[in-house]
Amino acid sequence: MKKHNFNAGPSILPRIAVENSAKAVLDLNGIGLSLLEISHRSKEFQAILDEAMNLFKELLNIPEGYEVLFLGGGASLQFCMIPYNFLNKKAAYLETGVWAQKAIKEAKFFGEVNVVASSADKNFCYVPQEFTVPTDADYFHITTNNTIYGSEFQKDIDCPIPMIADMSSDILSRPVDVSKYSMIYGGAQKNLGPAGVTFVIIKQELLSKVERKIPTMLNYATHLKEPSLYNTPPVFAIYTCLETLRWIKSLGGVKVIRDMNIRKAGLLYDAIDNSKMFVGTVSRESRSLMNICFVMKEQYKDKEDAFMEFAKTKGMLGIKGHRSVGGFRASTYNALPIESVQALVDAMHEFERNNA
Ligand SMILES: *Cc1c(COP(=O)(O)O)cnc(C)c1O
Repeated sequence: MKKHNFNAGPSILPRIAVENSAKAVLDLNGIGLSLLEISHRSKEFQAILDEAMNLFKELLNIPEGYEVLFLGGGASLQFCMIPYNFLNKKAAYLETGVWAQKAIKEAKFFGEVNVVASSADKNFCYVPQEFTVPTDADYFHITTNNTIYGSEFQKDIDCPIPMIADMSSDILSRPVDVSKYSMIYGGAQKNLGPAGVTFVIIKQELLSKVERKIPTMLNYATHLKEPSLYNTPPVFAIYTCLETLRWIKSLGGVKVIRDMNIRKAGLLYDAIDNSKMFVGTVSRESRSLMNICFVMKEQYKDKEDAFMEFAKTKGMLGIKGHRSVGGFRASTYNALPIESVQALVDAMHEFERNNA
């Protein structure tokens, strides 16, 4: 049976990226060595790294003055590196979910944290739209897509101070005005590649304004000096990211991807909105194109397990909602084909016909 992979992360990748990565593991470009066996200082890997960094810049239209890095440690290590490098006295954070809270927790090790707005009052089912960022803070941190709750900033916001964004789960899902951000980062394993690599898009001038000493590996200056090659980078994971970037380019870039994502998400949100049994958990103006969360209406709550079982028989994978929200979450990342969304919608309709 065909599987429909709605996993939240690690998650579905373009089939071509998986196939080409598998080939490269056996023999990289016919050189007679596996991708896993080459030196990270070889000309073969340098070409992979350069192409990945350049494609990233091209696809997101990244302006001059920014560098793209591929590092280890996941988005979670960035939660620590950001305040380590940039928080002198005070930083501003937007609290929109568990990942934002984890970023806030790390920042508190380094100074004062001003939480300018929070959606914790409603279990993070929306993204605050009205807030004032203090101009005396060193930077403002946001999470553009809240993977667990399915809420997302639907556009790039303006900010009077350097803005840093965790885009782990919506990177390359739409065009981004990178000039509005001083730094964009995330784990690759949601929308870009396999687990094990972190992307960082950083404005060079943001550097070294803090007084404290920073250990070498945790200092962005180290990684900017030898882009992604201070130590051994995750060679394999970077290669798969490159294959995903090539795939996005072959489709026509992030505008095309965004239109595809709008169509996919629209299909599922329409089904939810017109359903007798299901209801969305996120307020409309904050709905995510990447993670679509829904539950059974109150009178059908006892049918959630039955639907989960039914969906499994139809090949649906990874649609269980995060334990902090319950119900269902369908992650509709770039690589998920619209046919999978249609299959989920069909399964919902069939279940309703038999149970509502
Ligand atoms: C998954 C996720 C993270 C955590 O990423 P790691 O690479 O596992 O550290 C952080 N932020 C967001 C928005 C995520 O979706």
